[in-house]
Amino acid sequence: MTPALLIATKNRPKAEELAALAGAAGGLLATLALTEWEAAHHRLAEPEEGADSFEANARAKARFYARATGLPALADDSGLSVEALGGAPGVLSARYGGPELDDRGRSELILANLAGSEDRRAFFTSVLALARPDGRSLLWTGRLDGLIADEISGAGGFGYDPIFFHPESGCTLAQLTASQKNQISHRARSAQAFLADLSRIRDFLAP
Ligand code: IMP
Repeated sequence: MTPALLIATKNRPKAEELAALAGAAGGLLATLALTEWEAAHHRLAEPEEGADSFEANARAKARFYARATGLPALADDSGLSVEALGGAPGVLSARYGGPELDDRGRSELILANLAGSEDRRAFFTSVLALARPDGRSLLWTGRLDGLIADEISGAGGFGYDPIFFHPESGCTLAQLTASQKNQISHRARSAQAFLADLSRIRDFLAP
């Protein structure tokens, strides 16, 4: 039998999303939330998020929790990269501009930093990492390409959705419904890659 898979995040919506993803693996992967593990054992420290790529950050989080708990762990990392800003905010997406900015402030800062720039290309990345307690890991990446709009539009989604124009949809991600966004997003794509890889995952998790 495969061991329980630890959902390695304390962010509740993310934990639910990752548990649903593992659940979609047809009963192959029984999951355990990090909060449940902590309730039964002890509180864990927070892992460092200081790496310079989404891949390295996702892998570091998954490895940290797999080593700390002795269970295989699933973690993710994501963010926005803007070509004309040299890939910024990138791994700093959640903290761009400093702690005093909220989601709207961060979007406004991107618009200000891009003022006058004709190159509006940008993409979202989502990386899923699965690690074993011995440190071995697998990664799946999803990417969504788009353009930074000239202004904020739409009230849905979160983060940079109101400035991310998706040409195929003809609007920003914040103007899509949640289910429309969930069909095209970088996170949907990394999840699809994960689900397409179940036989490799089963071998990887075998003791
Ligand atoms: P993480 O929690 O370290 O993965 O940080 C992700 C950050 O990237 C979020 O706080 C958002 O700023 C941004 N981000 C990631 N995915 C999305 C998305 O789907 N829409 C908008 N912003 C996103």
